[in-house]
Amino acid sequence: MILILQNNATDAQIDHVLERVEELGLKHHLSRGTFRTIVGIIGDEEKLHAASLDAIPGVAEVIPVLQPYKLASLEAHPDPSVIDVSGVKIGGGYLGMIAGPCSVEDRDRMMRIAESVRESGANLFRGGAYKPRTSPYAFQGLAVEGLKILRDVGKAFGMPVVTEVTDPRLVETVSEYADMLQVGARNMQNFALLTEVGKSKRPVLLKRGMSATISDLLMCAEYILSQGNANVVLCERGVKGFDSVTRNLFDVAAVPVIHGLSHLPVIVDPSHATGKPDLIPPCAMAGLAAGADGVHVEVHDCPEQAKSDGPQALLPEQYRELASQMKGLAELLGKTISPLPEPLT
Ligand code: PEP
Ligand code: MN
Repeated sequence: MILILQNNATDAQIDHVLERVEELGLKHHLSRGTFRTIVGIIGDEEKLHAASLDAIPGVAEVIPVLQPYKLASLEAHPDPSVIDVSGVKIGGGYLGMIAGPCSVEDRDRMMRIAESVRESGANLFRGGAYKPRTSPYAFQGLAVEGLKILRDVGKAFGMPVVTEVTDPRLVETVSEYADMLQVGARNMQNFALLTEVGKSKRPVLLKRGMSATISDLLMCAEYILSQGNANVVLCERGVKGFDSVTRNLFDVAAVPVIHGLSHLPVIVDPSHATGKPDLIPPCAMAGLAAGADGVHVEVHDCPEQAKSDGPQALLPEQYRELASQMKGLAELLGKTISPLPEPLT
C-alpha cells in the first residue's frame, strides 16, 4: 500500500500518519519529495482493509499494490485454471462451446436443438429455466419442469448442461439438475447468491454485469472462490453502450485484460453482446482470436416462436457454419475444443 500525502501536509500530520501505521503493526517508509511526500507501507495488507487510511488528515490518496481480489488473481495462481464441467474442460487451452436456446422450452424442441448443436461441435448445452426478465409479465421460465427437460436432454445427447440460477434459495434445486450454474449479468453483484453458489460443488459461469468494471467482475468471482468453490468461468457478454445499433457493447479487450489479471478462464457471449444474428459470427471469432476460452451462443430452430431472445438466436444451420469456422480458428490458435465426456455404460 502506498499513501500519497497532500502537498500541504504539515509535519504534525505526517507524524500522525506514521503513528497510525505503526499502531496497525506495520512498517513504513517515508519519502519526502520537493512537491509530494509519500509513505510506503510494508507488511500484511489484510491488516489495512478495515483501516480508513484515506480519512487520516493529510492523506491525499491510498494506492494498493496488490489486487484486492486475492484468490482470483494471478499472484495467487500463476497458471491458467482448467475448469472441469462434468468431463468438459474449459481453460488452459481447452475451449468450452456452449450453445442452446435462451429459455428451456418444450421437450421435443430442446431435443432437436441439442442434437443439432452437438452435431456441430458444441460441448455444453444451455437453456434458462429461471429467466430474469425486465418485465414481470414476460415469460419467466418453466422452473423445475424446465430443469427436468434440460437434464433429460443433456443425458440423451451426453452433453453437460448449464442453466441460470437467479435466487440463493434455488441453488440446491438447480444444482441437482445442472452440471454448471450460471449467474447472469443482472445478478453478478447479488452477493447472497454468489455466497450460495460458492458453497455448492457445481462449477459456476459468472457473467459480467452490464455496467460492471473488470475489477467488479473479479471481486464477484472472489466471493465464490472465498466460499471454497474454485470452479469459476467468467463471461464477457457486453456492457451498456451509448449506441443502440447493438444490444450491448462487446468489450473484446476484456478477454486479454482478464487473462493478464486472473487465472480464471473467460469465455465470450456474442449473442447477448450484440443482440443481432449477423454480428454473432464475427464477434465470436474476434473473442477466440483475443484468447477466449470458449464461446456461448444462443440457438433456436424457430426464433419467431422463441419464448425469449428470439431476435438474437442463430438458426441451427447458422450455428453449424459458425462452429466449423471456430474449429478452424481453434486449430490455428493451438487450442482444443474439449471433447464430450464418454457416456457412462
Ligand atoms: C442468458 O444467458 O440468457 C442471459 C439472461 O444472459 P445475461 O445474464 O448475460 O443477460
Ligand atoms: Mn438470453
